[in-house]
Amino acid sequence: MFCFQCEQTSKGTGCTDFAVCGKDESTAVLQDLLVHAAKGIAQFSHRSRLLGATDPELDRFLLEALFITVTNVNFDPAAIENAIRRAIAMRGRAEALYHKATRTAGKSAAEIRGPATWSPARTLEGLISQGEAVSSLMRRERFGPDIAGLQELLLYGLKGMAAYAEHALVLGHEDDSTYSFIAEALYYLAEEIPSVEAMFALCLKCGEVNMRVMELLDTANTGAYGHPVPTPVRVEPLRGKAILVSGHDLKDLEKLLVQTEGQGINIYTHGEMLPAHGYPELKKFSHLAGNHGGAWQDQKDEFAKFPGAILMTTNCIQEPQTDYSQRIFTSGFVGWPGVTHISNGDFSPVIKSALAAPGFAEDGPDKTILVGFGHKAVLGVADKVVEAVKTGAIKHFFLVGGCDGARSGRDYYTDFAESVPKDCIILTLACGKYRFNKLDFGTIGGIPRLLDIGQCNDAYSDIQIAVALSKAFQCGVNDLPLSLVLSWYEQKAVAILLTLLHLGIRNIRLGPTLPAFVTPNVLKVLHEKFNLMPIKTAEQDLTAILQLTA
Ligand code: SF4
Ligand code: SF4
Repeated sequence: MFCFQCEQTSKGTGCTDFAVCGKDESTAVLQDLLVHAAKGIAQFSHRSRLLGATDPELDRFLLEALFITVTNVNFDPAAIENAIRRAIAMRGRAEALYHKATRTAGKSAAEIRGPATWSPARTLEGLISQGEAVSSLMRRERFGPDIAGLQELLLYGLKGMAAYAEHALVLGHEDDSTYSFIAEALYYLAEEIPSVEAMFALCLKCGEVNMRVMELLDTANTGAYGHPVPTPVRVEPLRGKAILVSGHDLKDLEKLLVQTEGQGINIYTHGEMLPAHGYPELKKFSHLAGNHGGAWQDQKDEFAKFPGAILMTTNCIQEPQTDYSQRIFTSGFVGWPGVTHISNGDFSPVIKSALAAPGFAEDGPDKTILVGFGHKAVLGVADKVVEAVKTGAIKHFFLVGGCDGARSGRDYYTDFAESVPKDCIILTLACGKYRFNKLDFGTIGGIPRLLDIGQCNDAYSDIQIAVALSKAFQCGVNDLPLSLVLSWYEQKAVAILLTLLHLGIRNIRLGPTLPAFVTPNVLKVLHEKFNLMPIKTAEQDLTAILQLTA
């Protein structure tokens, strides 16, 4: 196996003998093969699209194939094998669509090679050896490190985008421009050997399309659950039976809230589910009791201590430990071998498990944190914020957020947030916030110094806030007193980074390490064009930022 798609990749270069995330070798290789199969579908579906023919089943399957291979989503080789077999059926459907479209257009069909013509082995072992032949190492040998690295950058951006598009789809929102770009990009990854410049342009286009996806997801979330409002969230337990919900899927949380109403079970959020408390249509459930624990990488310890059932919606799952393996459940595309998967929206097994577990014996102390600062809530007090900047009460804004992870060095983000001067505001989002979101940062003129924008899924809010500030101050976003200090872990973060680069955002500091698939040459270009830079120490970075803006 070879995989270097996430930040915790072995030795900062690539997982080879074992996967740091816990993925077994077969799953890793099968995921490569699934992506290969997806490219084969796109070779037909992109050509069909050029002839005006589309098929929503194909489009949605490509989302699934990409999302299921995101880090910490699905560790079940049987589920990946099943997806590969379905991909082959989908490829047949795509081929038929293409031939029909060519006949309708009076054209002859192109001779197509590569993933479009690959035949799957009958056995699992055979599929695994086919997967080994299509790994990114092979592409590096064939195309050289820079092109291959940019291909990976594009692929991981697509995976992240597919995850966001799937979140919107679950709530009934989809957009053909997303599907069109996914098919086009996979087609290029399958067939072309483009120049570095062309690959770079495709990566930025991925960021552009992802911006539209993030907007769609914002519309989907706020359309279904209302705009988030500032809300205190209890971070200590209440006596009684309990279910813990992690991941990003608000729809699954809503279904569970409805199904547990009146059953005497308290629902707690974990990880990226924390922002759910700010949505009016979710917070109206009185048994949405509070938040438990922190970011995904602490789940083994936190789930073991949780005296109830646990539901992992979309990423990020880790290997369930024996002390809770019988009371953890998965939904959506998440999977772990042997863990009960809820595929039909009926959470009865989770409820049964919660009722059988002891629950919390007593109430914890009354401690809360504040969430719910989406773009509408922040822009609702924009006048106050602008005035505070003009009077000098607010000197600078820092966006400190992104994915959290297990690698050492992430204390940087705690140190950074703690060192931000008292006359500055910290905006945060995604699970990286757990490094500091329980600290008391106080207020400036009634405005909380720490504003939790939401999940990584809510990056659109952050962009809207920056754009609104730039309008208020009649300057470009890069000229605002705003600095981005981001942490990355998996491919959703790659999609967001590409969106920020597409928007021309400069001076982003990224850590705790830079992606292994970004080669020194590509990094040089990113530095020259966008002044993208690695984090140093919190003190060095803060001093440099504040000196520049003094
Ligand atoms: S997802 Fe990350 S940790 Fe898992 S195998 Fe790939 S690089 Fe390694
Ligand atoms: S922000 Fe990234 S690392 Fe954190 S839970 Fe979401 S997908 Fe996982």
